[in-house]
Amino acid sequence: MLSCRVVKGRPATLRVIYRRLLRAFGPQGWWPARSPFEMMVGAVLTQATNWRNVERAIARLRRAGALRPQGFLALRRGELEGAIRPAGYFRQKAKRLRAFARWYVTRYAGSPRRMFRTPWPTLRHELLGLHGIGPETADSILLYAGAVPVFVVDAYTVRVFTRHRLLSRKATYDMGQRLAGRSLPADAALYNEFHALLVAVGKRYCHRRSPDCAQCPLGDLPHTIEVSA
Ligand code: SF4
Repeated sequence: MLSCRVVKGRPATLRVIYRRLLRAFGPQGWWPARSPFEMMVGAVLTQATNWRNVERAIARLRRAGALRPQGFLALRRGELEGAIRPAGYFRQKAKRLRAFARWYVTRYAGSPRRMFRTPWPTLRHELLGLHGIGPETADSILLYAGAVPVFVVDAYTVRVFTRHRLLSRKATYDMGQRLAGRSLPADAALYNEFHALLVAVGKRYCHRRSPDCAQCPLGDLPHTIEVSA
């Protein structure tokens, strides 16, 4: 059975939440990658796994000389699957990454400069048309590889914003983006930091089953938590 824990009051604004998180955690320095291609590969690898596993896969790709588009495409399927095995779902992810790398080389000659010269709504549409790239991955690529001001909405974002009564439980990805668009200036540096901070608070405090609101830097702001009675 579920019951609710409630801190009453008017929902805090996104700006207040951002400032609190930044004060508590400091700048997060995202995205930890040495090149746009590495960042984009990481965005696919991080689907449904944690970052530590992605780092292990990235290190193996680096050793194989596959963190450049041509080197990446030179890997045989089995070699690629072996390299990215630590990131989980390695067969699916290998397929996704090959589709992405082929598109990147064919359409943009493996050049981030060329890629990000394309108007971003068009680029987003192209990314969403690739195998296995959904809105969160596409927007991560736009924001962290291209400094495009699109707000990334992931599971942590939805959880924190829902619990702080800024989004309804049935909110869609687009609703999360519209909330950010209404509440914040279109600023890539701000979106970059905010997303990373939401991941930080989600990992440390805002757990799905047992959120630690007492220790959380947002704990005194109005929120509602469903807990097992
Ligand atoms: S742990 Fe509690 S206070 Fe912290 S973000 Fe989640 S709901 Fe808010």
